[in-house]
Amino acid sequence: MGTDKPNPTSDQDQAVIEGERLKILLQMAGATAHELNQPLVELMGYIDLFAFDRDDPVKMDSHLDKIKAAGHRIAKIVQKIQAIRPDQAEPAGSDVKIVSFDRPIDLLIIEDLDSDYERIVAALAGEERIHISRARTFEEALGKLAENTFHLMILDYLLPWGNGLAFLTDLERMRIDIPVIFSTGHGDEMVAAQAIQLGAYDYLPKSHLDRPNLLRVIAHTLEKHRLRAEVNQAMEKMAEMSVRDDLTGLFNRRYMNESLEREFSRARRYDNDLSCLLIDMDFFKQINDAYGHIFGDAVLKQFAGLMKAKVRESDLCFRYGGEEFLVLLPNTDIEGAQNTGEKLRSATEAYLFRDGENQIHTTISVGCVSLRLHQPPDVRSMLALADKALYRAKAEGRNRLIVYMETPGDMFQGEKQDVDMAFVRERMTAILEKSKKASLNALALLLDQLGAARFKAHNHQSLAQIDWMGGRLHLSGAMIETIKRAAMLHDRLKILIPESVIGKNGPLNAEEWACIENHATVLAEVAGLFEFFRDERDILLHHQERYDGTGYPNGLKGEEIPLGARILAIADAVTAMMSERPYRPPLTGRQIVKELRQNAGTQFDPRIVDIFLDALAENPAAALSHADMPV
Ligand code: GH3
Ligand code: MG
Ligand code: MG
Ligand code: MG
Repeated sequence: MGTDKPNPTSDQDQAVIEGERLKILLQMAGATAHELNQPLVELMGYIDLFAFDRDDPVKMDSHLDKIKAAGHRIAKIVQKIQAIRPDQAEPAGSDVKIVSFDRPIDLLIIEDLDSDYERIVAALAGEERIHISRARTFEEALGKLAENTFHLMILDYLLPWGNGLAFLTDLERMRIDIPVIFSTGHGDEMVAAQAIQLGAYDYLPKSHLDRPNLLRVIAHTLEKHRLRAEVNQAMEKMAEMSVRDDLTGLFNRRYMNESLEREFSRARRYDNDLSCLLIDMDFFKQINDAYGHIFGDAVLKQFAGLMKAKVRESDLCFRYGGEEFLVLLPNTDIEGAQNTGEKLRSATEAYLFRDGENQIHTTISVGCVSLRLHQPPDVRSMLALADKALYRAKAEGRNRLIVYMETPGDMFQGEKQDVDMAFVRERMTAILEKSKKASLNALALLLDQLGAARFKAHNHQSLAQIDWMGGRLHLSGAMIETIKRAAMLHDRLKILIPESVIGKNGPLNAEEWACIENHATVLAEVAGLFEFFRDERDILLHHQERYDGTGYPNGLKGEEIPLGARILAIADAVTAMMSERPYRPPLTGRQIVKELRQNAGTQFDPRIVDIFLDALAENPAAALSHADMPV
């Protein structure tokens, strides 16, 4: 379907408008040229006859009269051309309202000096269609402008309480669009130029305040105003006709409404399915805030490109509003829509948005509905359901696609119902878990981009150890997940430790140790950025405490150290022992057991070490292997 109609650029728009304007001018000129044509042809013809009948004085006299008459008509028309009057300039077929001398012209003269005002009135005497009002001050003028309709103003430059330039600015600000002729006694070209810049249509020095000049300037100004209105109208019409969004080149909202209605009734008529995806970019304000609107716009453009790449030829992509988009999928059921939406979601997540200066990863949330599944009675309801689904996608942590589903709130619309605390708690926990996961994934992505990817292998091992120990300690799934999230932060945030310390080949000096010791605090600080990572923060803050109370940062002892921190300490140590270091090979299972035993009760929680060692005796491969462990 018409996905590749050309997108009129603003240059093209401008050219069309300019063309439109030229056409109007040519029509005006054309009308007078036509009028001229006839007497000119006559004139030439009679001149020819005059030459031909040179021997017949009677005929020559008659020709001469005709020549004179034609000449007179031509002179009259030329006079008219010299002061084109708006009423004669109306192009055929135009429905533009024009102000003509044949209709009343309401003129407001803003002039403090009686003598100047009277000169204008005298110059216009006899022009019965020009109705003159007068204001002596700007205040009075604004009052009159509020009460009456004027077609034209003559504005004096100097008035007792301010000057006309400031008043022009005020008019602009108040969006009063009445043409102004600027008059000044100063003959100051600079002031005139300024006035024109500020929107005055023309300029009249007071030394030239005579009838022909005034009539010419008035006609000119009204004509210009009419042309401007026409150009504006042409521009509006063009905008109306445009189906594309300027920034992204996708279909615009106006065209979306049209398409929605069309596709909706078509699907109904032929009993086809129709689906739609409503998309909102996640945390887009932050992108603007951090990188500026220009980059924000670039992201929107690039996302539009992704959209077009991920949908089928027959799907329609619209920019719904700011950073919201809609895909309309004719002949597509909910599964098909979900597929497309999911493809787009993952492609967005993976895409590196960039311009010359910045680069970021970002995500989208998607609400999904279909005609057959949800049976919306009309287009509006369909959008409303998509919006509800999108809202849920946001609430459940973003970066996800949600198919609309009736929730208790919807089912009992309007009816009061008892809210089941268990239901709320269960939903809230699920939402919180998902949010944590989404935030953490985003953070991981950021950290990996900053260079933390190289710690990934280590992270796999720690996570496996935690799963394993957690299971042995019969911890809840949520607790295990919390410790794993802490471990994930712990490993990735190693990039905050200077390379000179982390990659050091040999023992660390005091300063370098301080750096390592400080790491726990730094980790806790990052985790503290998310209030819902409170548990993880505590684990991170205390994972370098020692069971005997000699660790840091707080010298907590025994059970004072959060359980998660005690587990992470062991997992981290075991993983470190299993890894190769620049100055030693990986430790063997036997060496690891020895290390743990030696440090149980001093560095490590002896109970957890025992459990760990028991399990190790039972199944050493499982305890120390990280193969086939989930990430
Ligand atoms: P979320 O949707 O995840 O809740 O967070 P958000 O930050 O994206 O919030 P929301 O959708 O309410 O705000 C969208 C923001 O997008 C508001 C506005 O600053 C920005 N925005 C809207 N249109 C444009 C645009 O054309 N260009 C740029 N650069 N920014 C836009
Ligand atoms: Mg004055
Ligand atoms: Mg939005
Ligand atoms: Mg948004």
